[in-house]
Amino acid sequence: MPIPLQDGWLYGPVDSRRYGRSLGVNPLPLDRKLCSLDCLYCQYGFTRAQDVAGRAEVPSAAELADAFEREFSKLAAAKDFPDRITVAGNGEPTLHPDFLNLSRALAEARDRHFPGATLGLLCNSMHLNRDDVVEAINDCYDEPAMKLEWGSAECFAAMNQVSPKGLQRVLDGLTRIHRFVVQALFMRSPQADNSDPGEVAVWLQHLQRLRPERVELYSLDRPPESQAQAEAVPRERLIDISNQVRALGIPAEVY
Ligand code: SF4
Repeated sequence: MPIPLQDGWLYGPVDSRRYGRSLGVNPLPLDRKLCSLDCLYCQYGFTRAQDVAGRAEVPSAAELADAFEREFSKLAAAKDFPDRITVAGNGEPTLHPDFLNLSRALAEARDRHFPGATLGLLCNSMHLNRDDVVEAINDCYDEPAMKLEWGSAECFAAMNQVSPKGLQRVLDGLTRIHRFVVQALFMRSPQADNSDPGEVAVWLQHLQRLRPERVELYSLDRPPESQAQAEAVPRERLIDISNQVRALGIPAEVY
């Protein structure tokens, strides 16, 4: 079953085994998921099912800047210092029309209140044709985690329920990002299996060309929409794939 959407612009901080004290930022609407992909495994359910009436409203960069200042001041006064601040939220954060300015405001607020905190981003890699998005990612984020989990355009189209042309757009766009982590979720369904050895071999070629700083491998940790019929890939297979990534000289971790 999909999980509920985030109901605020900031969520947490919560204790995370991986990130320590972790604060989330959601620059997207509160009443629907806003995303350019429709991943079979999305924790928020299918994008196309978000048939909420009216226009999607996003907070302006100025409203977000005020919220960062207000909430970070409160946390700092309570001596609750996050180790990491991650921009993600209800869909794809780079769809925010003023992503560059909201990212600058966040980086400035982080520098003022929590200079030791890492600034992370979860990004679906689909909007790197926008100069402002590329500038924001290169200038403001310490650890942008970029989605790249498909070998072929056919697998990309089937897993994300979009046009196959998008894969080339992702691959071209990633060449513009100076340093990034790859986030790759592996799954099997009747429509697509990106853990298939042939798919993985092509994906490894993408990695070899793009040389990310690190690759993070996952599978499903909660059941997605039942219609997607998506299933987790066994951990042994993830470890096997991660060893193939390391053989390229790229660090890899299985979560
Ligand atoms: S990119 Fe992320 S938010 Fe968008 S559909 Fe895929 S999993 Fe969901």
